[in-house]
Order: sequence, then structure tokens, then C-alpha cells
Amino acid sequence: MPASDPRTIYLADYQPFSHLLEQVELRFRLDPQATRVTTRLHLAPNPERPGKQDVRLDGEDLKLISCSVNGEILKVVPDATGLTIAAARLPSGAFVLETEVEIAPAENTALEGLYMSNGMYCTQCEAEGFRKITFYPDRPDVMTRFKVRIEGDLPVLLSNGNPVGQGEAWAEWEDPWPKPSYLFALVAGDLRAFPDRFTTMSGREVDLNIWVRPGDEGRCAWGMQSLKAAMRWDEEVYGREYDLDIFNIVAVDDFNMGAMENKGLNIFNSKAVLASADTATDDDFARVEAIIAHEYFHNWTGNRITCRDWFQLCLKEGLTVYRDQQFSSDLRSAPVKRIQDVLALRARQFREDGGPLAHPVRPDHYIEINNFYTATVYEKGAEVIGMLRRLVGDADYARALDLYFERHDGHAATIEDWLKVFEDVTGRDLAQFKLWYTQAGTPRLKVIEDWDKGRYTLTLEQENPPTPGQPEKDAKLIPVAVGLLSPNGDEVLPTQVLELSEAKHSYVFDGLGARPIASILRDFSAPVIVEREVSVAERAFLLAHDKDAFNRFEAGRSLCKDVLARMIVDGAEPLPELLEAMEALAFDESLEPAFRALALRLPGEDDMAATLFAAGHVPDPAAIHAARDALHLALAQKLRPRLSVLESAMHVPGAYAPDADSAGKRALRLVALGLLARLDGGAAARAAFFDAHNMTESFGAMQILLEIGQGATKLERFEEQWRDDRLVMDKWFAVQVTSAKPEEVAGVVRRLTEHPAFDLKNPNRFRAVFGALTANHAGFHEADGAGYDLLADWLIKLDRLNPQTAARMSTGFESWPRYDIDRQEMMRAALERILATEGLSRDLGEMAARMLARA
Ligand SMILES: [Zn+2]
Repeated sequence: MPASDPRTIYLADYQPFSHLLEQVELRFRLDPQATRVTTRLHLAPNPERPGKQDVRLDGEDLKLISCSVNGEILKVVPDATGLTIAAARLPSGAFVLETEVEIAPAENTALEGLYMSNGMYCTQCEAEGFRKITFYPDRPDVMTRFKVRIEGDLPVLLSNGNPVGQGEAWAEWEDPWPKPSYLFALVAGDLRAFPDRFTTMSGREVDLNIWVRPGDEGRCAWGMQSLKAAMRWDEEVYGREYDLDIFNIVAVDDFNMGAMENKGLNIFNSKAVLASADTATDDDFARVEAIIAHEYFHNWTGNRITCRDWFQLCLKEGLTVYRDQQFSSDLRSAPVKRIQDVLALRARQFREDGGPLAHPVRPDHYIEINNFYTATVYEKGAEVIGMLRRLVGDADYARALDLYFERHDGHAATIEDWLKVFEDVTGRDLAQFKLWYTQAGTPRLKVIEDWDKGRYTLTLEQENPPTPGQPEKDAKLIPVAVGLLSPNGDEVLPTQVLELSEAKHSYVFDGLGARPIASILRDFSAPVIVEREVSVAERAFLLAHDKDAFNRFEAGRSLCKDVLARMIVDGAEPLPELLEAMEALAFDESLEPAFRALALRLPGEDDMAATLFAAGHVPDPAAIHAARDALHLALAQKLRPRLSVLESAMHVPGAYAPDADSAGKRALRLVALGLLARLDGGAAARAAFFDAHNMTESFGAMQILLEIGQGATKLERFEEQWRDDRLVMDKWFAVQVTSAKPEEVAGVVRRLTEHPAFDLKNPNRFRAVFGALTANHAGFHEADGAGYDLLADWLIKLDRLNPQTAARMSTGFESWPRYDIDRQEMMRAALERILATEGLSRDLGEMAARMLARA
């Protein structure tokens, strides 16, 4: 179904830019209300586009001051999206096109292009922000060398590449590496550096800096340590070395995303780089490490080799997410990392894939590209690379990557180029595998087993459900990692990768003494949903004996979901076998604490709603909430005799360290405290709150107390202590919403939006409140629809200031088709109301229309 909107852009329409851009010189004269940007483009005819061509430059909201070609003034009038200079007005051969424009960074609340945050100038150009800075061929396949001069009365003036000169209120930067405009960055402000150095594998000395506002220097050490670890890892594992004399990271409070990989000058949402023991939790530390690594890894996968067009976004994001997952896995526990990644994939990507916003990893059309920075492009994009690696093996994966870097360095590439290096290295035809990039939807994998006189037959059948615009699909190539266990728990068949390429295929295993117990989709070898009839006994057996850590977790999780589903739908009691299995796991000291903590956490309410919906039920949010509560209590009672022992055994004494082992212990301790709170009225959690000497424990204990309806005084104390700290206050805002009783959620959100520290212009603060609203499943879906109205009201308000963040937060509505008719109608009405808003942005408009199946 092609989108009907005239603004739709199609992959099939791609053609190269009319000209070659050999170099660009930019000059910025900074002023909050009237920054002047002078741009000199050195253009030449592009042999790929024969005949004399017009020059079309992108540009939005720019005041054109002057335009000249080879020094001769041209009278031109821009339109709403750019500037065209007719071929007839251009000389033959190469020429210099110069423009001067005026922009107002202080008025820029969309946080795209050049804007101001707390008196500091900064930029965000991916995907199409550069066109809000100057007239330019703002597309990733136009790569060129940038020379930048910044003039402004601020102590720190930064841009990409290497510094080449500076003086009183000016600085000049040159980037020797050709790059597209989306990787341009400029920062100017009163900043402090947290400096360090790094020697690359070939002996090049690199200056490293994390730039922050005065006062934040004490929160940079972890980010710097993570950066150096990432630089070393990329050398050791991928053979990739850093390529400039300096690498700068800047922390910014007002930022739409996590961070941005601008060449040599990464710009970070301050929450993705700043961390200290008293202000950040273990999860924050792990996230900072992963995001720093992710942005750094882009230097090769994204910057040196970039995307030909935005349809290829997964080329850089899927691969870079895969690389940052490998990095975290190497630095921390691989099984725990895999479980966390799969849980996140299911929570966000499966949800997207199963609803009206489903789209392929490489979409073929869009209206606003900002709406495709999605879990599908990023996380499923990474899964596709993991599958590819499993199919070709580690050695050929390494050879293919070497060839990729060698063949495409300095170029803008496509998914076809990426797959071709694997085909050339292995001789395999990857045409069928490519369907993972072009078809949306989560495949369902049906498992049928048969046992007959020593012969075990495993039949796998795939089903690819319809998604918007893709009613019918071909069978995919699915790598299914399988192992077989004997009834005594020994592995009779170690992990084998079965390549399912047909709709249905049977695999026969002969010569087995007894009927084996199969462990299917080990390590989550493909992003699919397994459908398999498994008895309680078999799940409990796999939970106890599987040699694959992921499937061990999975067995427990599936059993837990089965039990919860029966409690919700039939009012069943918690199953004793489940409680016994969870008890065995909780106290199994052969398992790492982080693994136990994950396994003891019950599936989330949104996850249960999706599970019930997939099984043909209409999920009732209140019933899900009540059943989950009941199971929590039953688990607490079952574990009661040894909970306090577990809690104190997991206490980590001494100074705080954010390493994975200590973090795992703290996580398990908090799980134990959460269960204890259901039995002791919060006494142990209160003690832990007052004893806490780090944010993980004090915040964790407060959250537990709030969840059992206590903790109001802790909340006041917390606010008093942290009122001047924006990052910590984001936690304070969020926890009140996530822990509120369903019927109180709307009231809590209203009250928080009236709090003097609520700031609509700060995306972190908006997400803290409204991300928490949609995360409180039962509260957001309260039967009166108050949650839906609130979200719609505030998305409309935010859209006027910041369309990108408004559009992203609108996905709270994407799961509307799951629920009962009343809720469906209320959510649809909220989306209709958004869509009918006068002056609605392209961003939010496209999202609402897609959710209503109108685009
Ligand atoms: Zn990225």
C-alpha cells in the first residue's frame, strides 16, 4: 500500500546529486537571535548526471541574505524547502556557490539544526537538521571535506576534525575526512574539559575531552573510562583505529535522542554521559558505557562508511548496535546481556512489529525520516546481523567485515553492498536472507515433535503474518539453534544451527536411547516467536538443566507467562511448580546474581497484554495488574524463610563500584527487598533507604516503598536533596508515575505537570513524566480514558515546540488494536484529535495517520 501523502519519499526514486561537492567552507558569526552563516560550496558537474543540471539545495526556515556564483551576486528566492538555481544561470564546469543566511538559535525549540541549551550553542543535524543551518545538498551520499570558522565571544568553540587555528573570539577547524552534512557539529559555550589521552595501536596520540558545564567535571570519569575501553576494543576485535588527533564529547541537557556520532565531536544527552555513584544507578552506568561505545563505533560504521540514503539507516545503526552489544557482552556477562537485549527487543520491537507502525528493517517509503529511528531499524537491524554471523560463522564474518571496510571506506553504501561482501567472501546466495531487510513483521515458528522407536523428529514451520502494506510474504531463512538433552539432563546433541528456508521442514535425529527434551532457539538465534506445546514438567526441567543460559531463562519466563495467563483468564491460583522452580533459582549459588535477578522479575504488564492478545484474548489491564500483584505476593510467601538471608548476602560493602558483579548483587538484593516489602510492610526497604550510600540503593529502596503505597516522606527528602540536579530530578518525576496506583496515575501526572520544575522544552523531563505514564500499563489504560486524553493533550502542546519528540512519544498509542472496543475507540479518538489539530507537524501527523492506518 503506497502512502498517499504527496510528501512521501520512495527508495525507488533515488538518484545521485546533480553535482559533485569537492569542498565546503563554513563561517559562523554566532548570535542568539541573528547568527550569520556563510557557506562556500565548491561544485562541479557530476558525470553520473549527464547534461547541464539545476542546483537544488535544501533549506528550511532560513533568511537568505545573499547568494553568488563565482563572486557574482544572483537574485534568487527560496521556497519553503530550499533553493533552486537554474542550470542556465550556472557556468559550465566547476564553480563556487556562496550563500549567507541568518538564523535564530535561541528561538529553536525543535532542537534540530543550531540551537541553544543553557546558554550554550550546539547542533543536531541527523537526519535533516543541517538544512536548518544553511542551504546545502543535505543528503548522506554527498560527502565532502569541511573547513569551519566560528566567531563568537565564548571561551570554547568546537567543530569536527582537527583544530587548525584560534584567537580572540574565533577558532578554525578542518576535518580531513569527507563526510555528509548530518555528521557536522558545532558547539560553543562556557564549558569545562575533563581531559585524557589515548595511544592508538599504531602509536598515534589522541587528545580526549569530555566537555561539561562548570560543576559537572566530577561526573565524567566513568564516561572517559568507557571511551578508552571502546577505542581499545574496536582495535582488538575489528582492527579499527581512531583517525583524528582529537576526540571530543560534549554533554548537553536539551537533546532529542541519546547521543550523536558527529565526526570527532560527539554530542551527548547529559544523561547518556554523566555518571557518579551518588547521582546515577547501576543501570545508568551500564547505559553510559554502552552509548559511549555505540557512538564511538560509528566512526567506522556510519562515518567512514556512511549510508547512501536514509532508507539505508539500518546499515549503520543495525551494525553499530550489534557492535555495542558485543562490546557490553565482552566487558560484562554475555548471557545476562543477551537476556537484557532480548527483553528489550520484545518490549519495543515486537510491539512495533505487531501493530500499525510495523515496517521493514529497511523501509521503502517515508514522509518524515525522523519517525524511522525505531526499534525495528536499530534492534531488529542488530538481530539481522547476529543471524548473518551465525549463518556464515565467526571466521567468515570477520573476513566479510574486513572486506566491507576495505571496499567501502570513504563511501556511502547500501544494504546490497553490505550483503555483497558476505556473498563474495562465502560464495553463498543471500537473496532469501535479504527478506529480513525488506519484510516487516515477527515470524512465528511452530514446533512439532515426534518420537518413535529411537527416532526423534523435529518439525519447524514458519508463518509470516501480514503487516501494513505487506499482506503476503515468502518464507524467510531462519537460523534455529537447537540442542537436545537426555532425561537425566545430559546434553545428547550440542547446539546445532538448523537453517529453516522453507515454510515447513522436518529434521530427523536417529539413534537416541530415550525421548530427548529439545532446547529450541538457543541464545535467541532469530527474532521470532516460538509456538510450542510444552508441559509444565518440561519447562521446569529446562529451567533446571538447559546448558544454554538464555534458554534456561526462557524456560522460566515461559512458565511464568503461562501461569500468569491462567491466573488472568481463568482466575487460577499460582502454580506450586512455578514457585518451587523460582525458589530453586533464587538460591542457586552456581548462577550469577544478575541472572537470578532477571529471572525472578515477573514479566511486565504490557508484555502480558501482548502475550494474551497473541493467544486470542482481549487483555484486561486491571486483571493483568491484579494477577501480577497476586503472583508477586505468592512468590514472596514461598521465598519468605530465606529472603532476609538472601538480601544480606547480596549486600556489597565498601565504596561503590559500577562493575557488573557488584551491580548484579545489588540488583538481586533489590529484588529480595521488593518481595520482602510485601510481607514486612516495607521495614527492610526503609532500613536500606537510610543505609544507602549510592543512588542504585537509595532510589531502588524508595521505588519499592512507593510501590507498596508508602515512601511519601522519602520522596520529599529526595526532592529536597536533589532539586537542583536535572538528571536526578528526572528520576523523581518518573518514579511517582510508574509506581502510582492505576486509578491515581492521571492525577499524579496532572500534579507533576504543574510542578515548577516541569519543563516542556526539555525532552528528558517530558519523557520522565509521559514515558512513565505509558509505562504504567494499568494506569495508562484506566477504563475512563483519562490517560489517553492526557497524553493526547500534551503531545499536541509539545508538537508546537518539538515535533520530533512529540512524534516519538506518540507510540504510547501504537498498541490500541489489542484492547476492548471501548478502549480502542477512546485511543482512536485521541489519535483523531491529534490528527485534526491545526498546524500539526509532519512528524506527529505521519505517526497519527499510520497508527490510524491512513498512511
Ligand atoms: Zn547510532
